[in-house]
Amino acid sequence: MKMPPEPYRIKAIESISLLPRVEREDRIRQAGYNIFNLVSRDVYIDLLTDSGTSAMSDRQWAGLMMGDEAYAGCRNYEHFVEVVRSLTGYDYVIPVHQGRVAENLLFSTILEGGDYVVSNTHFDTTRANVQHKGGIAVDLLTPEADNLQSDEPFKGNMDIDALRTFLADHPQQVKACIITVTNNAAGGQPVSMANIKATREVCRAHNVPLYFDAARFAENAFFIQQRENGYANIPVRDIAREMFAQADGALMSAKKDGLANMGGFLAVRDEELSGKLTELLILIEGYRTYGGLAGRDLEAVARGLEEVTDEDYLKFRPAQVHWLGEKISELGIRVVRPIGGHAVFIDARSVFPRIPREQFPGHVLVVELYREGGIRAVEIGSLMFGAVDPETGKFIPAPYEFVRLAVPRRVYTESHLSYVVDILRKIQDKKDLTTGYKLIYESKYLRHFTARLAPMAPAEQDAVVG
Ligand SMILES: *Cc1c(COP(=O)(O)O)cnc(C)c1O
Repeated sequence: MKMPPEPYRIKAIESISLLPRVEREDRIRQAGYNIFNLVSRDVYIDLLTDSGTSAMSDRQWAGLMMGDEAYAGCRNYEHFVEVVRSLTGYDYVIPVHQGRVAENLLFSTILEGGDYVVSNTHFDTTRANVQHKGGIAVDLLTPEADNLQSDEPFKGNMDIDALRTFLADHPQQVKACIITVTNNAAGGQPVSMANIKATREVCRAHNVPLYFDAARFAENAFFIQQRENGYANIPVRDIAREMFAQADGALMSAKKDGLANMGGFLAVRDEELSGKLTELLILIEGYRTYGGLAGRDLEAVARGLEEVTDEDYLKFRPAQVHWLGEKISELGIRVVRPIGGHAVFIDARSVFPRIPREQFPGHVLVVELYREGGIRAVEIGSLMFGAVDPETGKFIPAPYEFVRLAVPRRVYTESHLSYVVDILRKIQDKKDLTTGYKLIYESKYLRHFTARLAPMAPAEQDAVVG
């Protein structure tokens, strides 16, 4: 298995360096063993997220100099609207500074308390914005996704039967259906065109508007081209247009497939809805022609959206992530399959089978990645989603103990990712010496961001395992 050569060359560089081991030990201890508390300068390879971390092209950097910072009607807004319209076919384009503002605008406008929103899987900010308006977010993910090791090509799909039943059982109560592409919370798995079209038919029959959460629309369109019958010879850009044609609108965080560091949009077909959204936009985000962004940022996003459907770029991007996942598999470490578009999800229990789940095996791996190699990743397991039953005091684990290695776009090379694989090999070699963690501070909500932890003493560890 080989990684294809990058379809770009390097023109500007940013230095990174690996702190000596003693200093890494010191930094992670001072951070309360929580990688969110590390400063970026102490990290060597940062795989925390693919959001806002893309490297921009020379065309995008040149675009920054073309920023027109007029309050109203800047030329970059014209370009932005032209690009989003031609990509999506939606007439009304509302710029925002990031994806969650688009969520807030949409749900503030269409939801009332007790209304439902259904999705293949809500991303966490999407779910939080639905709930914040008193809505109920329901995930209807295909059951194929339950098998983490199977190679079905579209494990991000909507469960069409469940959708049909849910809409029939809740007439007039479902105010939107959201298809998340790719399905971030479900391992970055794609949604097929057939599934998108079937979703549209069901929504249409029940008069429910359909929207895309389009953060990774280009990666999704590329997977359709590679994996779905009849699409092999269709350009990705045309596939993306065909996807958008099925829905009534889309919201997008341009921090992912916008190849920009900040930005997003909400685009809809309905003029009346767009009027209401714009009123609220002006109240919370900015005037309608800049939406919380500088003119230069609008230009960077417009150019990023033009570049992201480039076939050479897309032949490289998921292949790079795939390469990383396969190399990790070769070490005997279990990863979620098929390997997703933007990240490799490691099953940490396959690395640390002896560490009990209440001692956070995923978190152990995250800390070891930093201690051994200065690498930053994120746990998506019992530290993030675990709980304690308030009545019995019993620990309730998260469904999985994942560690996500998200790969920023156009940032790292094969040698960086080989280094990550080497560090994982070292961690495996020492895994019997590694102990679990206990929480010493946790907040009530989203505890993983602020938690402080401490390693278990080997004796405590044995007591639990033994
Ligand atoms: C990142 C993301 C969002 C939220 O976007 P922000 O720009 O971080 O506010 C929403 N949905 C999905 C699928 C995402 O990946």
